Amino acid sequence: MNQIGNPTESIDFLREVFRKYYFENKYFPYLYSIEKREFGYRKFDSLVVRHLSFKNAGELVAELIRNVPLDVYYSNAYYGLPSNPINEKQWEGADLIFDIDIKDLNIPCFQDHSYYICNLCGFVNSDQKVCINCNKGKTLDISIPCKKCFIAIKKEAAKLLDFLCSDLGIKETFIEIFFSGNAGFHFHVNDPNIRNLDSNSRSNVTDYIIGNGFMCESIGVRKSRNGFMIKLPKGGIMTGWRKKIASNLGINQKSELKLKHIVETSGGYEGFRNEINKITKKFGVHIDGPVTNDIHRIFRLPGSINGKSGLIKTKCDDLESFNPTNDACMLSDSEVCINLKTSLKINLKNNNFRLDNTLEKVPSYVAVYLICKGLATINKNN
Ligand SMILES: [Zn+2]
Ligand SMILES: [Zn+2]
Repeated sequence: MNQIGNPTESIDFLREVFRKYYFENKYFPYLYSIEKREFGYRKFDSLVVRHLSFKNAGELVAELIRNVPLDVYYSNAYYGLPSNPINEKQWEGADLIFDIDIKDLNIPCFQDHSYYICNLCGFVNSDQKVCINCNKGKTLDISIPCKKCFIAIKKEAAKLLDFLCSDLGIKETFIEIFFSGNAGFHFHVNDPNIRNLDSNSRSNVTDYIIGNGFMCESIGVRKSRNGFMIKLPKGGIMTGWRKKIASNLGINQKSELKLKHIVETSGGYEGFRNEINKITKKFGVHIDGPVTNDIHRIFRLPGSINGKSGLIKTKCDDLESFNPTNDACMLSDSEVCINLKTSLKINLKNNNFRLDNTLEKVPSYVAVYLICKGLATINKNN
């Protein structure tokens, strides 16, 4: 059994498909300085192995084919001695990585395609916390992102790209965008000039992108004895966050009177501050701050299979045209039989699957996806 209660035959099936993928895809074109990275992986029994290192891609692939992990990770950091314990690795810098995920966007449809799978027996509950089938297991919240979800997360990714290029001045050639293989995007920034940023500086970057701590004072509204006063900043309001706020309010450097009126109609200083909070929430990006600030973390390896879905962590060259459920679906399409735990609809490789029966014949990539999600098991008898 793995963490979503999958039986042995299903795990054996996944391992067979995963091994074939790694055997046929021996190259990891987006993996640089391999000899300086720490590697790790999650096994099918959920155990995580860390502090591995490989001299070249051949060694890595040999390990993947031999052990067939559920998930493969590598460090954003470059180390002199990557396989040593964490304090003895000789840290030499780390790529700046951002992680955005559909679950953080509070999209209304999210509940409609969420399932609660027992971590012990794999039963699909409706929305119970403790499994009603075995009365022991805890349920895991599993989701099949829909088209609307992917549109929303791609919009969020476009916002992040704009922050990195326009606000932070990072050259686009140093930014690689990857679909995580499940429900999010990872941005890898490998600009040598920012490789040495410590965790604190990275945290300033994440605060800026999220919009944490933007003050009314920055746009020229201060608290005073009579309520508030306006004094637009000398440095101007047409760059960075000030520009985003100013254009949302419809003001410019000469708009002192208009700004005064806006603050008054918002209910004074406090009311205006709430307004500003709303605007920063709207324009800020929902990134996972602690992930970016960690300079010793291991991240999913580009080109590896995401064990939550069977989709590949895939490079995305154009956000608009990228289609996650097609472009990242690379496993075999040979047909297999599965037992479904619930009826459902999914779209993979540009095909719509409407699965209403408990026994269905589907391409392997659909079987893998649903078994990884805990929504089906393999049926070897048919
Ligand atoms: Zn259960
Ligand atoms: Zn959705």
